[in-house]
Amino acid sequence: MTKIETLLTQVGTHSDEKTGAINAPIYLSTAYRHAGLGESTGFDYTRTKNPTRSVLEEEFARLEGGDACFACSSGMAAIHLILSLFKTGDAVIYPEDLYGGTYRLATQYEAQYGIQAIFNDFSSLEEVEQLVIEHPVKAIFLETPTNPLMQEISIEECVKIAKKYGILLIVDNTFLTPYYQRPIELGADIVMHSGTKYIGGHNDVLAGLVVSKGAELSERLFLQHNAIGMTLSPFDSWLLLRGLKTLHLRMKQHTANAQAIVAFLEKSPHIRDVLYAGRGGMVSFRLQSGKQIDPFLRNLKLIAFAESLGGVESFITYPTTQTHADIPEEIRNARGVDDSLLRFSVGIEEAEDLIADLQNVFNVLESEAIVHD
Ligand SMILES: *Cc1c(COP(=O)(O)O)cnc(C)c1O
Repeated sequence: MTKIETLLTQVGTHSDEKTGAINAPIYLSTAYRHAGLGESTGFDYTRTKNPTRSVLEEEFARLEGGDACFACSSGMAAIHLILSLFKTGDAVIYPEDLYGGTYRLATQYEAQYGIQAIFNDFSSLEEVEQLVIEHPVKAIFLETPTNPLMQEISIEECVKIAKKYGILLIVDNTFLTPYYQRPIELGADIVMHSGTKYIGGHNDVLAGLVVSKGAELSERLFLQHNAIGMTLSPFDSWLLLRGLKTLHLRMKQHTANAQAIVAFLEKSPHIRDVLYAGRGGMVSFRLQSGKQIDPFLRNLKLIAFAESLGGVESFITYPTTQTHADIPEEIRNARGVDDSLLRFSVGIEEAEDLIADLQNVFNVLESEAIVHD
């Protein structure tokens, strides 16, 4: 079987047999001419199907091992598409440690549409199974590793529960990408991504991707994707195709750099703890005190204090006021997303330079005697 590195590099290279173009052409046309009644090239109107978006969707479905893919205008639009499968009275289980936007949408839909959102820490899967038995649960929506605490949840074990009770297993695979983790091969029904992150990879495109397994589920998602209309533009589809070509190289470098950063941080007296899943570019860590956060962020020179992840450039995010600001403080603190926690999206710069940037910040903290209580 062709290796994923080769599949990634070759995405779209055979998409235009007419000209032999190596890169998928960008079709901006929103409408397509028909020769006569009942005749179509397969394309009628771009919301329903666009040739550039179709190349991305076919390639990405293959990379995740699914039957169909739906490219959306953002990761949140992708989650909205998935949640549109449910109706009033249905329940969905989520890990407590979750992307803030997913938490916001899930709780909003509970209040507005009565789609119950159940949160659990997933430390006991027997407890998760009990929730499935006791509530009208239609799906488990996982993130693994979780965001921002990097807790790993076994997809295989959750697949067993989902199959036993005939419910869907949905995995947000934004952090590890199909390069490291392919949940559908493990038995998941739906995989979604914020394509804004590692898939695009360059902090220049907002996108979402939903991949499904099975004809009936894929058909329902296809109808909703077209009906709601949160489809990805042709140009943005092309940017994701371009990003995919180097995904494997970027992920390897993100991992190598993240491992070097983890080794450095673990030795620093300024760091209380470091959370890392062993692969990928996402590292979370706690400073000794929340008081050090502002001087820490203010003195970074190379690493940007910015709210996103998965790009080639290194970013540090403060979940308390950024990604997780919509989770009430009490709940956030109880779950461990406290005011000393930072989330580092380690980029693909030279690790030595990233470490020097952090060391410089620590030196400033020491010289200004901004020490912990
Ligand atoms: C960013 C992100 C989302 C939301 O994606 P957008 O592209 O910002 O809409 C969902 N899940 C995770 C894990 C994310 O990091």
